[in-house]
Amino acid sequence: MRAEPAAGRGALVVAVIGGGPAGLMAAEQLAAAGAQVHLYDAMPSVGRKFLLAGKGGLNLTHGEPEATFGQRYFSRSGWLAPWLAAFGPQALRDWAAGLGVETFVGSSGRVFPRDLKAAPLLRAWLQRLRGQGVQLHMRHRWLGWDEAGALRLATPQGEAALNPAATVLALGGASWQRLGSDGAWWPVLQAAAVPPLPLVPLRPSNCGFDVAWSKHLVSRHAGAPLKGVALCFGNFSQKGEAVLTATGIEGSLVYAASSLLREALAALGATRIGFAAPFPEEIGQASLRYLAANGIQTLATRFGGYRDNFAIAEIPPEEVIALACGADHPDAQAVLMPGGNMPCLGVADAIEARIGKPVISTNQAGMWALLERFRTPDRIQGAGMLLRERPTLR
Ligand SMILES: Cc1cc2nc3c(=O)[nH]c(=O)nc-3n(C[C@H](O)[C@H](O)[C@H](O)COP(=O)(O)OP(=O)(O)OC[C@H]3O[C@@H](n4cnc5c(N)ncnc54)[C@H](O)[C@@H]3O)c2cc1C
Repeated sequence: MRAEPAAGRGALVVAVIGGGPAGLMAAEQLAAAGAQVHLYDAMPSVGRKFLLAGKGGLNLTHGEPEATFGQRYFSRSGWLAPWLAAFGPQALRDWAAGLGVETFVGSSGRVFPRDLKAAPLLRAWLQRLRGQGVQLHMRHRWLGWDEAGALRLATPQGEAALNPAATVLALGGASWQRLGSDGAWWPVLQAAAVPPLPLVPLRPSNCGFDVAWSKHLVSRHAGAPLKGVALCFGNFSQKGEAVLTATGIEGSLVYAASSLLREALAALGATRIGFAAPFPEEIGQASLRYLAANGIQTLATRFGGYRDNFAIAEIPPEEVIALACGADHPDAQAVLMPGGNMPCLGVADAIEARIGKPVISTNQAGMWALLERFRTPDRIQGAGMLLRERPTLR
């Protein structure tokens, strides 16, 4: 095992792991602030997914006003607002222009490089990074940390240990593994922190959806572009374009709503659940029979064993969280928590952050049904996805 690189003279040594656009941008900012930046990537070259995005024209951002642009992030828009204020759509266009790549707003409002390509932008960007002193180390895979807290990297010369002053992990998601984004970092990072980090599990976004179209529709319309259409779903309503495919629907308009659709399917279309109840198993059996009779498969159960309603109301938050997490199953789409007295609302967000899927408790479901009944568009923060995203049954 070797140690590399040695600390620079005076400058703060920072390791950026991952050479997609996020890592390259981090490297650029750090180098501009005077850090000595070493960027490591598992692949033989950086920006592979970015280059593939260029094949579709490279939609860089959107030309709409910044206030409406922020709404595209749904429940995360408040959280992201300060970041967008510091570096919004116009700042991104200016940044591209600074690399010699002019942009234009297409008829859909989306912003593209004038030549619809990613390669010239990446080339200019890498040249600027090298000029800033950023050192790129390819075929260096981050493996985690060793017992002494050093970064472990698998390199062509064997395993290396690294002690930078700071580390930026910019490892991408888990789609298009052959381009480097394999999501293998997720369990490593989860296991490295004690207590475990509340990492949000990797889930598909910007994705199309399967629809069982009729044979007639597929034979006549598969591949048809849907232009000038609006997609309405719960409180989501947007105009744009989509494509009707042989197996479903995709395109930019569908991608814009895909996280909402995904969550709603998981919550309201859940047919495989975990079941976490405060009462003893013999009481829960009736609920399980009812669920089974309605086509819902219970994959895991946890029972608190409480018989006294007042005691149920006093269950400490950590115990409620443990009960819910214990009832999760890798194939479950949601965790159901019956028991109106059990204090679930305040911990629903914490549970969802841990298990990466919606929690549906008695009081949440009741409140959701009331809001639906009164047709109020209100979303409630801090009490789980069902009330925050307000998926709608149609
Ligand atoms: C077909 C397609 C079209 C797209 N079109 C667009 C578009 O038009 N507009 C748009 O904005 N986005 C588009 N995207 C999405 C865009 O490419 C991604 O959002 C973007 O690449 C994410 O950047 P990132 O830096 O977070 O991650 P990535 O680009 O995935 O980069 C992560 C990097 O980390 C490296 N890495 C991972 N694990 C390790 C490890 N353990 N050790 C070392 N290195 C590691 C990987 O090799 C990779 O280079 C498209 C994606 C695809 C697949």
